[in-house]
Amino acid sequence: MIIAGITGGIGSGKTTVARVWEKLGARVMYADDIAKQLMVSEESVRTQLKKVFGDGVYLPDGSLNKPYLAEEAFQKGRVEELNSIVHPAVYRYGERLIEQEKARGTALFVKEAALLLKNGRPDGFDFIVVCEADEALRISRVTGRDGSKPAEVKERMAKQQSRDVFRKHADIVIANNGTLRELEEKAEATFRLMTGEQ
Ligand code: ATP
Repeated sequence: MIIAGITGGIGSGKTTVARVWEKLGARVMYADDIAKQLMVSEESVRTQLKKVFGDGVYLPDGSLNKPYLAEEAFQKGRVEELNSIVHPAVYRYGERLIEQEKARGTALFVKEAALLLKNGRPDGFDFIVVCEADEALRISRVTGRDGSKPAEVKERMAKQQSRDVFRKHADIVIANNGTLRELEEKAEATFRLMTGEQ
């Protein structure tokens, strides 16, 4: 099984590329979605979050109190503490999934994660693919996607790794300054390159 990671800054197009690969038969793990899921479903994560951020992390019905956690972690500059609880659980989930997918005969496993290269190039990946696009385009695409304000997008961009850091660890860079169709074509070509399929 080929194992690939796809990453890039906010609005660079990584999810769009991953969805194309999924359609072509890849098994994609969206790390952000898994993180949100595990904060609710995994008992060890729940216990640690409550210990570190307080019982208010969860609502009486057991669901995540997102505004509370955002205030505690993001507004109070404690994101690293949140990450140190959630990321190892996401990693373990990924390792289990990789074993399952290997056993099922999956050809291409993909991890989509904005923070894939946070500690440098992670082990175990055959390909690291990085999406990139000019800042102005990324801002307009994200504001168009979810109605966020340009200033908010810029703020999130400023906290992410630079283009040079992403590039340093990339085996393949997908430039996304053109149309959506062009991006999809590049995604298809990259899929063929990674899997050896014609
Ligand atoms: P995030 O880090 O916020 O999850 P992302 O890197 O996963 O972002 P996408 O969600 O794939 O990026 O793309 C951001 C938005 O821009 C989406 O609404 C997507 O449809 C749109 N988009 C991506 N590439 C293009 C393009 N080449 N032309 C027009 N729209 C695009």
